[in-house]
Amino acid sequence: MQFKDIVGQEIMANKLTGIIDSGRVSHAQLFLGDTASGSLALAIAYAQYLNCQNRQHYDNGRLHSDSCGECPSCKKFQQLTHSDLHLYFPSATTGKVTSKPSSADFQTEFRDFLNANNQKGDIDKWYDFLGTDKNGMIRELDADNIVRTLGMKAYEGNYKVIIVWMAEKMNTVAANKILKVLEEPSPNTLIILVAESSERMLSTILSRAQQVRIPTKTHPEWDLNPEFASLYVTWMRQLFKLNMATLSEWVDTIAAKGREQQKQFLLYAQEATRDCFLRHMAGTPMTMDFGDEKFNASFPNMITERNAEGLNNAFDEALFAIDRNAYSKIALMELSFRVCKLLKKR
Ligand SMILES: [Zn+2]
Repeated sequence: MQFKDIVGQEIMANKLTGIIDSGRVSHAQLFLGDTASGSLALAIAYAQYLNCQNRQHYDNGRLHSDSCGECPSCKKFQQLTHSDLHLYFPSATTGKVTSKPSSADFQTEFRDFLNANNQKGDIDKWYDFLGTDKNGMIRELDADNIVRTLGMKAYEGNYKVIIVWMAEKMNTVAANKILKVLEEPSPNTLIILVAESSERMLSTILSRAQQVRIPTKTHPEWDLNPEFASLYVTWMRQLFKLNMATLSEWVDTIAAKGREQQKQFLLYAQEATRDCFLRHMAGTPMTMDFGDEKFNASFPNMITERNAEGLNNAFDEALFAIDRNAYSKIALMELSFRVCKLLKKR
């Protein structure tokens, strides 16, 4: 999987290749986002880029870098057959495996499933593909294999990559077993947990993995909340005019909402900003309508290559803080100042 084949995730792709190019690859990462966002495909593309023998860099264009797709490593990654790529996922008993199911029993099926679905995961489709009911899990046997795999040397690549898809389906015993390897990694190994929600994951796992929040294109809750669009427009205008009195009123309005609503709004704002960037850089049509023609027409010009990534990170960090029960008003104020500065950097 190359980043160029994952539509609409250019900012995330640039962020991920940037991390690899800078040599600051964290050995345990959590890719958090709806399956529809392409989070699994991004994890695979990330692993492929990490091991590509001929990374490509572009001076202009929406993607800064990508794997070559041609070298022996890339060719194996495209088929998901590279011996340093290890895939773990929920499994269940089937006609073929009647007891103690684990990912090891379904490697061929999982590869076929991913190749048939553009390497996008979808848990319901996966269970249908396996022909099981919907109670798949990642169990102790998988955890034992993960620990063993992490202890082995990489065969062909520079990096051995373990991808655990739907990591929230890991049972507690399995999760506890992998804690140690998250803490004491072997050199040149990387474990990527891909999950839709961090809510059912052990906090001890969460605190050991670097979180990468993958934005989603469509989000049903946003449609139910037309207020988000007007709150976003108001906020951005205040930041642009640096109107402190009304900004603090705005912060109060958001902070008065529950924590879940605050997070939903910030996810919306992150996605809206990303949408503006794509519109500005690539001329793609806006998928979001802010209900304000003047704003629709002018604001996307504010989001450029110079500030898009910084803005994305600022939202990520505010979301992380609010997730961690930080005081919302302070987190929102800090975010506002960062966004304000970044908007000037265009
Ligand atoms: Zn390559």
